[in-house]
Amino acid sequence: MKICVLSRNHRLYSTQRTVEAAEQRGHEAIVVDALKCYMDITSDRPAIYYKGEKLSGIDAIIPRIGASVTRFGTAVLRQFEMMGVYPINESVAISRSRDKLRSLQLLSRKGVGLPVTGFAHSVSDTQDIIKLVGGAPLVIKLMEGTQGRGVVLAETKKAAESVIDAFHELDANFIVQEFIKEAGGSDIRCLVVGDKVVASMMRTAKEGEFRSNLHRGGEAQLVKLSKEERATAVQAAKVMGLNMAGVDILRSERGPLVMEVNSSPGLEGIEKATGKDVAGMIIAFVEKNAKPNRTKTRGKG
Ligand code: ADP
Ligand code: MG
Repeated sequence: MKICVLSRNHRLYSTQRTVEAAEQRGHEAIVVDALKCYMDITSDRPAIYYKGEKLSGIDAIIPRIGASVTRFGTAVLRQFEMMGVYPINESVAISRSRDKLRSLQLLSRKGVGLPVTGFAHSVSDTQDIIKLVGGAPLVIKLMEGTQGRGVVLAETKKAAESVIDAFHELDANFIVQEFIKEAGGSDIRCLVVGDKVVASMMRTAKEGEFRSNLHRGGEAQLVKLSKEERATAVQAAKVMGLNMAGVDILRSERGPLVMEVNSSPGLEGIEKATGKDVAGMIIAFVEKNAKPNRTKTRGKG
């Protein structure tokens, strides 16, 4: 097969490993930077050009679209879908998962466990929204943030009010969430491929920090998942329509709660923590499922 990794940088660990795994399994792999693609959308024969050449003969796409380039990245992916190329994750599912509020709404509709979460726009709702999520301590998250940036723990009601008012003042979009104290500064990353959790790790925040992101100094270790945790992770990916996803779960007194579903999960942390060939499992899934015109939406909707 000819597999295209849609990624801005061929030197990134996840991109490199995906290419390596594809080649190891006897495929041809190319890395294409979506931002350097240009598209012909005027004719009824959609095409994509890259570095002066028309891209052709591609059997499958593995999109690794950064959060900052979601709009153009998914447009390029949609163009591939219109050409009938199989993507492991479809453009519609990626856009869906990038919208934190929309994701939570979809997950809640399907009964997936979630931290109590509120969202508001007008300043006068500050008090009400704090009450809604059960009062302080609570977590306030900027919608656009990644890697733990823009996630604040407000330990008192006063602190919560100040942060919420400040975010309003900046006209920022954010959510207010119940703080899951019993998670103890840890969360679980479940790497879902197809209908299985193929690897998982527990990330624990460094001393004095509640955010477990590895970028914030969190540490990864092996973890044994319960049946319920596995089922929750698989269901969350399914609700989002993602074949490949990093599902982050908090262990709470009322069971596993999904915090977020990532459509371009990093491979470095999880492969190093588990010693598993996750990239190889992703390619194996593509081998099994890639067929022309197999996209459910073909970029529609
Ligand atoms: P980001 O998208 O920036 O990674 P997250 O929503 O994943 O933001 O939050 C970052 C980290 O903060 C999580 O990995 C988790 O450790 C901690 N955290 C987030 N929300 C909560 C919460 N409601 N209760 C307890 N800890 C939380
Ligand atoms: Mg996170």
